[in-house]
Amino acid sequence: MKCAKVDKFSQGSLIPYGNMEISPSAGILNYGQGIFEGLKAYRTEDGHILLFRPEENAKRMKIGAERLCMPSPSVDQFITAVKQTVVANKRWVPPPGKGSLYIRPLLMGTGALLGLAPAPEYTFLIYCSPVGSYHQGSSLNIKVEDRLYRAISGHGGTGGIKSITNYAPVYSATAEAKANGFTDVLFLDSATGKNIEEASSCNVFVVKSDAISTPVIDGTILPGITRKSIIDIATDLGYQVMERNISVDEVLGADEVFCTGTAVVVNSAASVTYKDKRVEYKTGPETLSQKLRKTLVGIQTGCIEDTKGWTVEVD
Ligand code: PMP
Repeated sequence: MKCAKVDKFSQGSLIPYGNMEISPSAGILNYGQGIFEGLKAYRTEDGHILLFRPEENAKRMKIGAERLCMPSPSVDQFITAVKQTVVANKRWVPPPGKGSLYIRPLLMGTGALLGLAPAPEYTFLIYCSPVGSYHQGSSLNIKVEDRLYRAISGHGGTGGIKSITNYAPVYSATAEAKANGFTDVLFLDSATGKNIEEASSCNVFVVKSDAISTPVIDGTILPGITRKSIIDIATDLGYQVMERNISVDEVLGADEVFCTGTAVVVNSAASVTYKDKRVEYKTGPETLSQKLRKTLVGIQTGCIEDTKGWTVEVD
């Protein structure tokens, strides 16, 4: 397995995957000065390798870097480095239908500095790994985290970027939920605890009478690339899609609930539990979420014509 390491965002090199040296006083270790991205490469039936919307990842990383006072690679540098990493790891891209190559770009403050200030040096690296289907393809049993002190992010925080620090508050809630048999946690807005935000690593949609809704993006949840793509696909298929505040009560009264993300792709919730109330939803191939998933995966894997220019070929 090879890993791309790009110093000063100009002269990159491919080095074997392995441990790296880092100063104990690096910004990423002490103050969380780090952001990452996640995207996938799929092998098509006719032997090509496709990336899905890498430009969106590059742009999101740029926004995150600005928020954390870091310089970032240009969109072209980002995509070139991702392509080089995939080419160097071609043999790890699973055959069609057997998974994908998950690609993890990471940008971090690595220069040594004791004080709380932007690091004097940065590192941008990319590593990757073959992955199968998340949650083994089963539907999700979701627990709503009702303790507000366990929210991921408040207004003015870093919830809108893919900062490494957003994942720290998730540990305790997900560990506890998993110990109690749940597969994921749905977090609420930290201000009122009435509206849903996102799950630990995916965005959430609810369906009621064929109308689709998803929480509005306003700085506290991650603007998911899968979320954006699903909104487009559903709109093209003639569904009404609303980005708005969604209360927990609406989730409990929905016909369907589903999650979207690079790892999870599109996955339905089999149940949502809020306090002592558990609601079950229909799952399976007849659901709207599976219809949307089929179209998305078809485009990502080259089985459905990409009329939107979302896929980028790697060779
Ligand atoms: N929310 C969070 C907290 C995430 O970690 C992710 C995964 N990146 C998402 C949403 C979904 O984003 P995307 O569709 O870009 O993977």
